[in-house]
Amino acid sequence: MATNGTNGVQLPATQKAAQFNPKDQTVSINEIPIPSIKPHEILVKVKSASLCHSDLMLFESNEQGLTLGEGEPFTMGHEACGTILQLGSQVPTFQSGDSIGFLPIIDCCYDCPGCQIHNLNCETGSPKVQGMTVDGYFQEYVAIHWRNAAKIPSGMDLTTLAPMFCAGCTAFNSVTDTVAELEGVEPAETWVAVVGCGGLGHLGVQYLKAYECKVVGIDLSPDALEEAKAQGADFVFNPQVDGDYVAKIKAITGGRGCHAAINYTNSVPAYSSIPALLRTNGVLMVTGIPQRPLQFNAMEISMNRIRVRGSNNGITPRLVKCLEFSHKHGIKPHLTRFKLEQFQEMLDLMHSGKHKGRLGVVFD
Ligand SMILES: [Zn+2]
Ligand SMILES: [Zn+2]
Repeated sequence: MATNGTNGVQLPATQKAAQFNPKDQTVSINEIPIPSIKPHEILVKVKSASLCHSDLMLFESNEQGLTLGEGEPFTMGHEACGTILQLGSQVPTFQSGDSIGFLPIIDCCYDCPGCQIHNLNCETGSPKVQGMTVDGYFQEYVAIHWRNAAKIPSGMDLTTLAPMFCAGCTAFNSVTDTVAELEGVEPAETWVAVVGCGGLGHLGVQYLKAYECKVVGIDLSPDALEEAKAQGADFVFNPQVDGDYVAKIKAITGGRGCHAAINYTNSVPAYSSIPALLRTNGVLMVTGIPQRPLQFNAMEISMNRIRVRGSNNGITPRLVKCLEFSHKHGIKPHLTRFKLEQFQEMLDLMHSGKHKGRLGVVFD
């Protein structure tokens, strides 16, 4: 054991980390040093860290302008929570022992107009994503920027809460953005299709039900549909099994179609199928990010005056709201637990799509 940093906390010298090697696109469990914190940073002892679909982008080429994983191996993961071990000298507000979750963008200014929407849009810094280009959260001790941290309301279970910090806040933001876009429509009269009922979608269903919307879950996976039902979806459809699902959705929505659809999938065909589910002037909330550009029938978008909008995991002030709302409404991620040593097994399961909710590592 060695003493590291400002608070005299006893820490081991090294730790295990699930690291991605950009040279051969493999993952291995490596022994790495415990990070030393800078004045604006917090050292966190991670309780849970979970896999996000975006993590799979490391293993595939993309046309989204993202440069992922260059150079030396780095620790994967951008979705985690834990407790504060040490505070840098310039960190206000937080205290040692606080439970926090955090967002992963660093080297941004947090204050410019771009940073008010998403810190990747910073107009003055050169933002990086922890877990995508620099060390992320599949390691027990992580250093994070204090501006990325949000206190977790007491009573929330840290062992299953990791997904809240990407999937949860993304689902929350996409739902609140959709509800805002539909201003003037009674939530209880509002039909929203959740396209993709996995990691993001199972939370999206919960947030929509908290707003008392009527929810139609759509997925190709029977497991994901079962989860959507369990979380309160009013109807669920598997387009591969039910060739008539578009007509059925029209019928249950009074012949008009849904007011909105939120797409959480990374599938271009799933996006292309959405305008047919929407009523005139409906909202298509773009949330999941396919590796390739989207394709739509312009006639459908134009004639029906479909509103195509974007939503994302957002910034820390929205994360704080997400936590308050989730705590108030008892919204919880479904996390299947793995050990760090089972990382490859967890990754393979994520790739297969044969899982419910989120997959993650819980540290003892
Ligand atoms: Zn993510
Ligand atoms: Zn900025």
